[in-house]
Amino acid sequence: MELWFSEYQTKNVKLSFRVTDVIYTKQSEYQYISVFDTEDFGRVLALDDTVMLTTKDEFIYHEMISHIPLLTHGNAAKVLVIGGGDGGTVREILKHPVKEINLVEIDHEVIETSKKYFPAVSCGLSDPRVKIFCEDGIEFVKKHSGYDVIIIDSTDPIGPAVGLFSSQFYKNVFEALNDDGIMVAQTETPILFGDLIKRIYTDMSATFPYTNLYSAVIPTYPGAFWTFTMGSKSINPISQEISDIPFLETKYYSRELHKSYFVLPPFVKDIISK
Ligand code: SAM
Repeated sequence: MELWFSEYQTKNVKLSFRVTDVIYTKQSEYQYISVFDTEDFGRVLALDDTVMLTTKDEFIYHEMISHIPLLTHGNAAKVLVIGGGDGGTVREILKHPVKEINLVEIDHEVIETSKKYFPAVSCGLSDPRVKIFCEDGIEFVKKHSGYDVIIIDSTDPIGPAVGLFSSQFYKNVFEALNDDGIMVAQTETPILFGDLIKRIYTDMSATFPYTNLYSAVIPTYPGAFWTFTMGSKSINPISQEISDIPFLETKYYSRELHKSYFVLPPFVKDIISK
């Protein structure tokens, strides 16, 4: 008998994978964790039956959430990641000459699961520059500061992640950043969640002098067309010189395309400008 995993991307749309092997399941304090293998997308990590990553396409999300803010900043020494317990974002940040990365993941079970079942994703978590805090990121930013870049690698705005999408949180992130600091958050798909993107953009622009969306194609996320919203205190990402960007070993991010990631299709421009 065939076993299928389905994520309800909306009430009316499901993304399904035929499961070749169930590797691990656990109800943690915060969410239902599952790991399974598939034929075409490799190994999958799901939280509360929502796909967090597949080994086939995770590089797209992790490269884009990391390299765009870090290369825009150009000289980041201290970076904070909120969420991101799988370690994919940390792995990408470690391609830059940073001095310290703080990873604040509320659910230590996600970290343990990734270390055990996704070694190629979690490989950077044992680097001596990485300090892991198993805490709520919403509270953490109120108490810590001095960051050059803050990356919000969160689940969807449900449960413990709701506050990571609030205007007060963006204000606290602003305070936690150095004067030339940059934040970025994963901000869902404009195909299905335009209202949410508009609210995030409005809230972030009320706090940051420069707020810019950029996009990537992520086949296993709802709508496949994904956005990230970046808030910058003093660096304008649009006027950055491409020749200043160092070469990085990547599979999706390309420095030739760096500026073009910020060019939005008209329907996305409409969403944020209306
Ligand atoms: N790439 C993913 C996506 O968009 O589907 C995000 C992956 S990462 C695993 C998201 C992590 O955010 C989860 O492990 C979750 O436990 C964590 N998280 C949710 N709310 C949080 C909070 N308030 N503070 C810290 N971590 C949080």
